Amino acid sequence: MQSFTYEKAGSVEKAAGSSGKFIAGGTTLVDLMKMGVEAPTALVDISGLPLGQIETLPNGGLMIGAMVRNSDVANHATVAAHYAVLSEALLSGASPQLRNMATTGGNLLQRTRCPYFRDPSAGGCNKRMPGSGCSAIEGHHRMMAVLGTSDKCIATHPSDMCVALTALEAVIHIQGTGSNGNGGKRTVAIGDFYKLPGDTPHVENSLEPGELITHVELPPPAKGGKQVYVKLRDRASYEFALSSAAVVAVVEGGHIKSIRVAMGGVGTRPWRSHEAEAALVGKAANAVTFRAAAEAALKGAKPLPENGFKVELAKRCVARALKMATA
Ligand SMILES: Cc1cc2nc3c(=O)[nH]c(=O)nc-3n(C[C@H](O)[C@H](O)[C@H](O)COP(=O)(O)OP(=O)(O)OC[C@H]3O[C@@H](n4cnc5c(N)ncnc54)[C@H](O)[C@@H]3O)c2cc1C
Ligand code: SF4
Repeated sequence: MQSFTYEKAGSVEKAAGSSGKFIAGGTTLVDLMKMGVEAPTALVDISGLPLGQIETLPNGGLMIGAMVRNSDVANHATVAAHYAVLSEALLSGASPQLRNMATTGGNLLQRTRCPYFRDPSAGGCNKRMPGSGCSAIEGHHRMMAVLGTSDKCIATHPSDMCVALTALEAVIHIQGTGSNGNGGKRTVAIGDFYKLPGDTPHVENSLEPGELITHVELPPPAKGGKQVYVKLRDRASYEFALSSAAVVAVVEGGHIKSIRVAMGGVGTRPWRSHEAEAALVGKAANAVTFRAAAEAALKGAKPLPENGFKVELAKRCVARALKMATA
């Protein structure tokens, strides 16, 4: 591992604009540094910043600090009661020990689990080293994405939490350095936060250098709504998703009044399916409708030889989540 300096951030304002790399729980970053994938020369520890609270907002929404640990979000009484999809998604990920360290901000910025990205000796990787090629396209790609891919990168976005946040239409609060008239503060809807790989897979999100995520805001939960997270994977725990689905639904008189559908394990970013939602709103909540929505969700899929199974798996995952969320 390359040597680096270490300092504790004194305040949110001072941390923002730092040229160092933020470290929160360290569960992603330290691994990548040990593997030689990331080699920051300066680490800025943000664990002492006052970003560890979950607060109810006057509008009934929730503000989650970037340093709140994944386990604390998942087990928070309001989250469990009113944002069950988030609680379920978090509890389906990693292990209890990891969730006790991992933070809300760090989870948003976790990197892909593509093995070629994580092993610098494994060959070209446009995400790790722009312009070096994509070893996964010609090599092993069973775990890779089928939605949002490009000929430069097919890496899956790995987070469960972000799929739930996408279905909840979360808003990310960011602190930058200052010349925007709002003291450097800005917000980005999660649907606009992640970039598709396109020709620049190393550019993963809309954060500017030095910007610090301070909070994640959840809008008020829909009245009478039901939320579900379904995760399908190779083993029952401690495994990333092959396919997952987060659904937030309101059903009245057997018909779907409103619905949001997001998918994990199949997209290059947490994948909101407006196509599925359009196929569901106003329709009777039944198996025929669910299958039609699942077909719509995967219509643009571009599978490769090893990951073609994900297309049907994802359809079944979406259909199952819809059935559970509308029961
Ligand atoms: C063995 C293992 C299994 C896992 N399984 C799953 C799983 O099944 N599902 C799942 O979703 N995840 C899984 N994870 C990933 C885990 O959720 C992440 O490692 C964790 O959420 C990262 O949070 P952290 O606080 O440790 O981030 P760190 O490692 O501290 O940071 C990660 C990145 O975020 C940046 N960063 C952190 N906080 C901020 C901030 N506030 N503002 C700006 N930048 C910031 C850092 O600079 C770094 O680039 C697994 C991880 C491991 C190691
Ligand atoms: S899929 Fe993306 S992360 Fe994986 S090798 Fe190709 S460019 Fe790298």
